[in-house]
Amino acid sequence: MANIAIVGAGQAGLFLGFGLLEDGHEVTLFSDQTHDAILNGRVPSGMGLFEDAVKKEAALGLTFWEEVMTLGEGAVLQMINPDGSVWLQITPPVPRPHRGVDQRLKNSRWMQELERRGATVRIVPLASPGDLDAQVAGFDLVLVATGKGPFSQLFARDPQRSPFDRPPRHIIGLHVKNFRPEVRTGTIRLLPGVGEFVHTPFYSRENLQGRFLLIEGIPGGPLDGFPRELSGRELLEAVQQTLRALIPGQLEDLKEAELISEQCWLRGSITPTVRHPVSRLASGRSVLGLGDAVTAHDPLAAQGGNNATHMADFYRSRIREHTGRTFTAEWMQQTFDDFWHAYGQYAMGVTAGLLMPPAPHQQAVLASAHQVPAVAAALIDGLFDPRTLFPWFVDPAFTGEFLSSRGVPLALLEQFQLAPHPS
Ligand SMILES: Cc1cc2nc3c(=O)[nH]c(=O)nc-3n(C[C@H](O)[C@H](O)[C@H](O)COP(=O)(O)OP(=O)(O)OC[C@H]3O[C@@H](n4cnc5c(N)ncnc54)[C@H](O)[C@@H]3O)c2cc1C
Repeated sequence: MANIAIVGAGQAGLFLGFGLLEDGHEVTLFSDQTHDAILNGRVPSGMGLFEDAVKKEAALGLTFWEEVMTLGEGAVLQMINPDGSVWLQITPPVPRPHRGVDQRLKNSRWMQELERRGATVRIVPLASPGDLDAQVAGFDLVLVATGKGPFSQLFARDPQRSPFDRPPRHIIGLHVKNFRPEVRTGTIRLLPGVGEFVHTPFYSRENLQGRFLLIEGIPGGPLDGFPRELSGRELLEAVQQTLRALIPGQLEDLKEAELISEQCWLRGSITPTVRHPVSRLASGRSVLGLGDAVTAHDPLAAQGGNNATHMADFYRSRIREHTGRTFTAEWMQQTFDDFWHAYGQYAMGVTAGLLMPPAPHQQAVLASAHQVPAVAAALIDGLFDPRTLFPWFVDPAFTGEFLSSRGVPLALLEQFQLAPHPS
């Protein structure tokens, strides 16, 4: 069995740690924060996990909040007209469950659990690649799962696989309580040319059923440019005012919403980026990147944490197959490439696709989903498993055939100049 170091106590690093322990490896986790500091710190991100990822967590006995939390159920997608009215609404016929647990609660608990199951946890502030190099000498394999922070720079950006070279959105995330009525569905409102407003149920650090509000502003537009100096509460107020002006009469559910605590909000931006997965440290040792460190997603399509979980699971199975042999840079590259081809490219494709204005064939899909439940189901299922959207959602050559096979009337296809099913 191998002696493996994982750097970073986030979704990717911790989840992989549990899998490797179960396979009998020796696991050392390096974290820059104690579990207490994680629990009591600022909210780092959101984390709506879909069924496939949750099943993988459950298989490792890691879904500690099932008995107390409300499960999310599906997602309603609305396209908003410039006057704020709803142009179309897509509601999938069979809502699939999803879960969001406050990352601070989850990572803090998972870190303690990992140690309890036999991992060594080292709290070390690794400030530079030199520190990392010094700490990981002697391990058979080193995985860097430090998220989008400075260590991601160890891995060169891959321009062929990176869909953007600047942030397509400015992001605000807020944890709120008193969202009325308490519904289980997530809602995604697309405001063309302006940005998006998403809210999903989640379980908070304070053991409350809350809502995670995600505001994605196209740079320079009305959902961007909230003053930097606003406190969390002021930001929530400003966001509510702006949204009321953009979507008048539709935000009754937000009327009583309050921030859960002062630290439970964030703002910033992310350039969706794919990096070369292997980095060679000064000592000559190669390390393998995992999760956001090598594939950073904008949160709109909720792919980042799901992708990180599937990537960790994929790495685990490759490590299991390779045990007893040397983990070379070539093996690392191949492992990442195989994951990219099997799953990663689709997750990044959905992230990029949702951030770009819909092409004409995608407008046809949206219009069809409004009328035909089977298309609505396929579209929303594509967020839950991005592989299922390809090629019909991205390549217009396949769209007409797919839509007609799901019963979309010929007249609608012709309106968007799509060829129907050959039969
Ligand atoms: C607002 C927002 C909403 C989101 N919503 C969703 C969603 O609904 N669904 C979804 O799937 N994804 C979502 N994401 C993305 C998701 O949060 C990330 O993809 C996921 O957290 C990636 O996991 P990770 O383990 O790779 O990185 P992280 O979760 O960032 O963890 C990295 C860890 O490494 C530690 N670290 C950093 N530097 C060092 C160092 N030098 N030494 C030691 N440790 C270090 C950090 O402290 C952290 O604990 C969202 C992101 C944001 C910003």
